[in-house]
Formats: sequence, structure tokens, C-alpha cells
Amino acid sequence: MTRPLPSTATIGAYFDSRLAIVWSGPQGMTRCPFHADHQPSLSLNAEKGVFFCHGCGAQGGLVEFERLFSRCDLKTARRVIGKLCYGR
Ligand SMILES: [Zn+2]
Repeated sequence: MTRPLPSTATIGAYFDSRLAIVWSGPQGMTRCPFHADHQPSLSLNAEKGVFFCHGCGAQGGLVEFERLFSRCDLKTARRVIGKLCYGR
């Protein structure tokens, strides 16, 4: 299932709804919610819709982020991302 990526603004708004992020253009940094992070290790890219943690190695796209963040299954994560980022 490949869909065109949502706009950078839409992806940024999605990440902002989940974490407090410091943005520098499309690049964001924040403390990683997936391990005990004491300084910002998680980088996000609102242009590409991807994330990568330099501490624990968690990485992926929007659906994977939602799955890890909400601790839900893949199907639920796809539905949430569809609703929040694709409007359906
Ligand atoms: Zn991490």
C-alpha cells in the first residue's frame, strides 16, 4: 500500500500532536518516547514523514511511528494515520 505523502505541514502537525518538537525547517528533534531519553535523540523529518532515534534505533514512517507511540496494532495505526494525515 503506497500512497503519496501528505504535505509537510500535515505531517508536522501530526508529529506536533504527539510530541513537543523543536523544528528547524522540516527537521525536528525531541526526546524519544520509545526509550528513557534524557536529551533529544529522536529526529523527525516532516517532509519525508520519517523518524529515527539515535539512542534506541527506533525508526520508520508515519504508520510505524503511530504504532509504536500508541502501542496499537498495524491496522489501527494505518486507520489513525489515514484519518489524521489523509483525511479519511
Ligand atoms: Zn529512542
